[in-house]
Amino acid sequence: MVCWRRAFTLTELLVVIALLTVLTALLLPVYTLSRRGAQRTVCISHLRQIGLAVRMYRDDYGELPPYLSAVRIYLNEDGVFVCPVDPLQGQHRVEATIGDAFRLEGNHYLPSGVSYTYVPNWAIARQLGWWQPGPPYGEGKWGELTPLSECHWHWARQFNPAWQRDRITQARGWILILTLNGAVRKIRAEIPPESFSPADYR
Ligand SMILES: [Zn+2]
Repeated sequence: MVCWRRAFTLTELLVVIALLTVLTALLLPVYTLSRRGAQRTVCISHLRQIGLAVRMYRDDYGELPPYLSAVRIYLNEDGVFVCPVDPLQGQHRVEATIGDAFRLEGNHYLPSGVSYTYVPNWAIARQLGWWQPGPPYGEGKWGELTPLSECHWHWARQFNPAWQRDRITQARGWILILTLNGAVRKIRAEIPPESFSPADYR
C-alpha cells in the first residue's frame, strides 16, 4: 500500500522556510510603503477638514481661533484632530513644549487629543513676523499661503521640545503643512519645522 502522508524531509522544510523568508522580505517593504501612503492620505484629509473649519470660524468671528481644537464646533467628529501615525494619538502633554505652551495643545482643551501643531501660537513664527502677536493673530506674512497647522508624525515619532533650539537632523520624512487658504502641502524634510526658516517653507 502507498502511504500518501509522507513527511517532509528536513531539506524540503528548509527550502520552504527559505522561500517564505525571501517572499516576506520582498513584499513587506511594498506593504509598509502602501500603508504609510494610505495613512498620509487620511492625515491630509483631516488637515483639509480642519482648514475648512478654520475658514468657517474666521467667517463667523473675524479672527483665527485661539487654539486649533476651538474649531471642533464645525466638525462632525473629534477624530479629525488625530493623525493615524501619531504614536500617542493626540494624548500629548502641553508641558512637553518650551516657551510656547500651545504649539502642540495635545489633550489640554479636547480630551480626545490633538496631533497637529498650530502655527499662530508658535513664538518663533511670531518673532519672524509670520503672524502678528495674538489674539487675534493678524494675517501672516504670506497671506493665504502662511502655514497654519502641521503634522509631524510622518517625520518623527516624538515631539521634541529641543527642536526649537537645535537643528536636529537625524530624522527624515514628510511634513504635512496646512496653509491659510486650506491647501495641504507635503514637504520632504530633514530638519524639524521648529527649526524651519521662512525659506524652508518655500
Ligand atoms: Zn499625520
